[in-house]
Amino acid sequence: MNLILLGAPGAGKGTQAEVICKALNIPAISTGNILREAIKNQTPLGMEAKTYMDGGKLVPDEIVINILKERLQADDCKNGFILDGFPRTVPQAEALDQMNVRIDRVVDIEVADEKITARLSGRRVCESCGASYHTQYKPSKVEGVCDACGGKTVQRKDDHPDTVKERLRVYHEQTEPLIDYYTKAGKLVVVEGQEEVADTTALTLKAVEA
Ligand code: AMP
Repeated sequence: MNLILLGAPGAGKGTQAEVICKALNIPAISTGNILREAIKNQTPLGMEAKTYMDGGKLVPDEIVINILKERLQADDCKNGFILDGFPRTVPQAEALDQMNVRIDRVVDIEVADEKITARLSGRRVCESCGASYHTQYKPSKVEGVCDACGGKTVQRKDDHPDTVKERLRVYHEQTEPLIDYYTKAGKLVVVEGQEEVADTTALTLKAVEA
């Protein structure tokens, strides 16, 4: 099964991707995580991406398309994959079509902007493995420590309030048109994000397995 998770930043794509990847035994591919790893390792790609990311802007299409193309060639994608955070623009979706990658379903997780702002301020991510937590909705067992790998959980720089505002603006302008794009392709399923993560997960799994 080849899946795309759509939704605004903070809609819960990463958390849902983690659940689905375990349920279906396919990798979750997050372009955001790949870019953050490049920044951590101070590669030329990371250096270039950092300025855009810290300002809440999108990294240029050409860069992320190349990252994804390479990642999809890995062996673990043979039985399917979940894309979390790609595509984020219509040209990226078109590039995916041109790669002849079959997409079975696109799950759009919808959450109102006001809720997103509150959610992102409580989000914490593991510096080592990228696992995602929330101080209120999904706390790690020990505060500041990742359940999965014992790494340190921190607030992302781009989760600060001003950057969140800009990320939401960019989302509405550049990513939201994909809802129309995949509706026309007959692939879109909408999931209303719920207060409880587990409730959203139940709806997401239903949308994927239906
Ligand atoms: P995420 O972890 O998915 O929220 O991504 C964090 C940041 O990485 C975004 O705000 C963008 O700056 C960048 N990024 C991740 N994926 C993409 C993409 N598909 N296109 C452009 N920029 C991206």
